[in-house]
Amino acid sequence: MTIRGIGLHSGEPSMVRFHPAEGPVRFRLGGLEFRPLASSVVDTTRCTVLGHQHLRLMTVEHLLAALYIRGIWEGLVIEVTGLEIPILDGSAQEWVAALQGFSSRGPKPEPVSGTIRVEEGRSSVLAQPADSFSLTVTILFPHPRIGYQQVQCPPTPLEELARARTFGFLNEVEAMRAQGLIKGASLENALVFSEQSFVNTPRMLYEPVWHKALDFLGDLYLAGRPYWGRFVAHRGSHRLHVELARLLQS
Ligand SMILES: [Zn+2]
Repeated sequence: MTIRGIGLHSGEPSMVRFHPAEGPVRFRLGGLEFRPLASSVVDTTRCTVLGHQHLRLMTVEHLLAALYIRGIWEGLVIEVTGLEIPILDGSAQEWVAALQGFSSRGPKPEPVSGTIRVEEGRSSVLAQPADSFSLTVTILFPHPRIGYQQVQCPPTPLEELARARTFGFLNEVEAMRAQGLIKGASLENALVFSEQSFVNTPRMLYEPVWHKALDFLGDLYLAGRPYWGRFVAHRGSHRLHVELARLLQS
């Protein structure tokens, strides 16, 4: 199966193909293969970027979140043509659907062995020992349509998070474009907020926090294997998520 699209940040076309293969899940790019691991992350400004030798691969988080949701840790090579994973509709639902043909495979979840906490200003992420997986994510944006939002999985099933789209604010568009970001962003691939309201219609009541939880799963995938534990992210960022995954990985 081939999936084509454009990158959210680069605006460039790219293509992804899934191939069954023995061994751990890995990317194939420019003739090289590398695993999606926190130790390979080279940038977390607005998206998660993997680096391998001279190669860079941007915005891996939604595809990795789909792998997390589907429990796929082995048996797959993800061939990428381009420098960024396609943004598609801004969520992970097309990735989850595209991975239906691959079965859940990988090591048994390992229990988180002690409390790990990473913080920066008023943001924090936490992993604590527990005998199952749970995730609580909260966000706080001073916007009349967002404010404080929380999602807890369970009871919300992880698969439900896949539908939540990337979100952004109209008043940040120019500044981000000036930094060379979001060249591919549009109302087709993001939930966009104006100063007081939405520009397009949300898919669910708490789409922003559901999407944050989806980003968290994608970054947590970079720990390289599933874990049992209680995970909490308050006003998280790719930087904090990836740091947590890196600490788990080590
Ligand atoms: Zn995202």
